[in-house]
Formats: sequence, C-alpha cells, structure tokens
Amino acid sequence: MIAPLIKIMRDQIRHSGPLTVAEYMDLSLMHPQFGYYVTHDPLGAEGDFTTASEITQVFGEVIGLWCVEVWKSLGSPNPFVLCELGPGRGTLMQDALRAGRLVPGYSEAVRLHLLEASPFLKAKQQEALKDYKPRHIAALTELPDLPVIIIANEFFDALPIRQFVRYQGNWKERRVAITPQDALAYVLLPASDAPDFDLPDESVVEVCPSADHWASAIARPIVKNTGAALIIDYGDDEVVGETLQALSHHRPAHPLSMPGRIDLTAHVSFDPIATAARKIGCRIRGPVPQGEWLLTLGARERTEQLCANATEPQQRNLRTALARLTDPAAMGNIFKVMSFTNRNAPPPPGFD
Ligand code: SAH
Repeated sequence: MIAPLIKIMRDQIRHSGPLTVAEYMDLSLMHPQFGYYVTHDPLGAEGDFTTASEITQVFGEVIGLWCVEVWKSLGSPNPFVLCELGPGRGTLMQDALRAGRLVPGYSEAVRLHLLEASPFLKAKQQEALKDYKPRHIAALTELPDLPVIIIANEFFDALPIRQFVRYQGNWKERRVAITPQDALAYVLLPASDAPDFDLPDESVVEVCPSADHWASAIARPIVKNTGAALIIDYGDDEVVGETLQALSHHRPAHPLSMPGRIDLTAHVSFDPIATAARKIGCRIRGPVPQGEWLLTLGARERTEQLCANATEPQQRNLRTALARLTDPAAMGNIFKVMSFTNRNAPPPPGFD
C-alpha cells in the first residue's frame, strides 16, 4: 500500500510535474495532516535528532542571560516581547526564562510569544511554558509594538531549500519525480531562475527561498520598536555543495526515503540572512562559532557551578554535554551564532 503522503506527492507530480526539492521538503515536514513536524515529536533520545537545548540546560541558560543583558542595554523596558521561532519542546525557553528569574524586574516584563508551525509541538510548548502564559503567533507581524528580543535555534535549517546542479555547462534544477512503481526519484530539469555564476560540472548549489523572508520579518520589528535577535544554526557564511540531510532515529537516511517520517534539514548560509536583515536596517554581527560564543558567555563556569551540587554520573553528563556543544570537532565550530541589533546599538554579549 502506498503511504498517504507519497500518494499526495504522486498526485501533485502527475498534475503539475516534478516537485522542487523545496516543495518536497515543505510537504514532508509541514503537510497539515501527514507532515513530519505535524505528526512527530522529533526531539530527544526516542526522536530522530537532538538539539543543543536538549543536550544541556546550560545552553538555554546562557541564552537567557544574553537576553537579560540585551534587555538591560535597551533600558530594561517593561513590557517587552521575548519571541522564539521554532521552540521545539520549549526546553530552550524554559531554561532561558529560569535563568532570567534571578534578575529583578525581568520576568515581570516578559511578554512571551512563540511561532510554531506544528500543532503537536505547540501543545508541548504551551504545557512546558504555561507559567509564562505564552501566546502563539502565526507570523511576526502579529507581535505587539514593543521592544523585542527574538531567538531562533535550529529554525533556519528546517526551511525548504532548492537544489541546482551544474550539468554540461548549464544549471539544472534537481526535482523529485515518481517512478511507475510509486518510488520517489530525483530528476534534473531545466532551471528557470538558476544561480548566475559558473561552477564545474556536477557542482550543487542550494538556495533557501524563504530565508530572506524570515530574516526580513525578524529585522522589521527590531528596526521599528528596538531590540535584537539571536540566530543559531549549523552552517557557514556561504554554504557550498549538497547539504540536504535526513535523519531517522539519529541515523542518516536517504532524503527521499519515508517522507513525513524523517527529519530533513540543510546547512544554513548566513550571508543571505545578514544581507536581508541589513537591507531592513539592522546591524549584523557574526556568525561566530557556537563553541567560542558559549565559552565567552560563561558556559564552562555555569557547568562547573551545576557540577558542584551534582552526583558523579551527573557531573560526567554535564561536562560531556558542554564538550559536545563547544568542541570544534563536535558542535562547537559547525554551529554558528549571529546577532541582529539596531544600527547604533552596542555589540551584544559575545560579539565584541
Ligand atoms: N529550537 C528548538 C527546536 C528546533 S527543531 C530547540 O532548540 O530544541 C525546529 C523547530 O522549528 C520545530 O519546533 C519545528 O516545528 C519548527 N519549524 C520548522 N519550520 C517551521 C516554520 N516554517 N514555521 C514555524 N515553525 C517551524
């Protein structure tokens, strides 16, 4: 029997031709009934992947203290908007808000807003963060006109990308077709809006059409009402080559296998994000390696502080987790941190 999501894809392909990789990703991850994020809790040990937020509480706490410092630099506004894009299980925000509780006036000032596409994860976030009365929004234009701090960890890597492949001196677009046996397969088709530069044959270039939209949408309320944003993701200034990857139960899988049941992500190119936000009027700092950024902000000291009251196995876990997030050979280098602020704002913590 053909899986329901493959049937939907097959019908769409028959009707309007092979899907772009972006259309394939969008259906796989976000189809309102069968999409991966709609039907799964992708995170944690039983899920398909994990994030820094789920690895150690120190990650969210450091981000929480970053928010506090930014809030102070804005003149400690009360109220202000704290907004997270793609909050997953709500773990990062829970840790961040707990860290902020120690600071007089901060928690009372927070108006928590969450932007999440998955109804399943929305319910989890509502539960995890119920003490802070979060409001879910569908677009950043719904934010009230208040100073704003926006956080996005591993949000941009889930945005759909298109792939272009250099073939016999021309750019072709890689698309997803269906075989007579109802299997999904890549095909190369003429590209109407391909990259405008030359690369050797077989080179692959990925373009994330919605990254500009999101970067601009984050930048606008900052420019209008003052504030800052923190974007954390795996990637580089300009990512080259094919990076689309699928994970199933923490193991690599073929991106076309089991749509709707595997996680799909691609490395994030930070340059286009910076360019879009700059156009709106923000000042961009970074990307800097996550490991350096976390250590500058005291992740090691916080880990040791937690170790002082922990059992030996807990201490081992805390230190291993810190190493995983900060070691250049693990997540320390591949993950990057970028900030948006108002043009004349001082550098936020970790970016001077
Ligand atoms: N930030 C979390 C989870 C990252 S996983 C953490 O640090 O653990 C990616 C998150 O982004 C999930 O919550 C997913 O549902 C959400 N997401 C992905 N694409 C989205 C989109 N286009 N709009 C809203 N949320 C999206």
